[in-house]
Amino acid sequence: MRRKLVAGNWKMHGSLEQNKALLDALVSGVTQSEMSECAVCVPFPYLCQAQMELVGSPIKWGAQDVHPLHQGAYTGEVSAKMLLDFGCQYVIVGHSERRTLYGESNELVAEKFAAAHASGLIPILCVGETLEQRENGVTEQIISKQLDAVLSLVGEHSLDNAVIAYEPVWAIGTGKTASPEQAQHVHLFIRQRLAERDAQLANKMRILYGGSVKAANAVELFGMPDIDGGLIGGASLIAEDFLAICRAAK
Ligand code: PEP
Repeated sequence: MRRKLVAGNWKMHGSLEQNKALLDALVSGVTQSEMSECAVCVPFPYLCQAQMELVGSPIKWGAQDVHPLHQGAYTGEVSAKMLLDFGCQYVIVGHSERRTLYGESNELVAEKFAAAHASGLIPILCVGETLEQRENGVTEQIISKQLDAVLSLVGEHSLDNAVIAYEPVWAIGTGKTASPEQAQHVHLFIRQRLAERDAQLANKMRILYGGSVKAANAVELFGMPDIDGGLIGGASLIAEDFLAICRAAK
């Protein structure tokens, strides 16, 4: 049975003071027995704070991006090894904001995935289509290409300790959520695509849904058979909302 995961993506939000209040509220609101697995992916400068606040709690933490190489003259970049120094377990790769705003190709995302995985981090690989692609009926082709880039670089066996997040671009931060049926359809497609390579792996793979998840729609989404939790943007910045979403994934 797949344990559900709810991961918060704080994006470029927060301050030492705001984070302290949020993390304190999460730590006091979370109870291990009641909850699914729960994690927060914070901006790089706050990894140390996340580590100090969350160590010993059931909440895990991680980052929102990683460089494919371990070290070198790459101004502004952060390696997987550095993330491990701060106790990260997770790292998001290929978020649509990075693909769109910073031109990250499927190949670069695959390299980031490979570096994270090889270093022992659990990559959360984001895939998803734009509204135009959905309307043109190419959702499955787009997602296949995003998955295949990773599979052809690392091979399906390297997906054993990884998470996939299906995030329709048109639902991210827009307040428009995919219906549970729309999301389930794509999640099942992803699982079947993985099963063509390795049925056991496909069955174990946690596939999260992301895109305007809120406490009000989480129960229905997480109730679908192939939705194994969520990647949460806006609602992860409000402790009560994030905790309610974590409870919905119980
Ligand atoms: C995200 O950024 O991954 C996301 C899903 O954002 P939101 O929940 O705000 O749509």
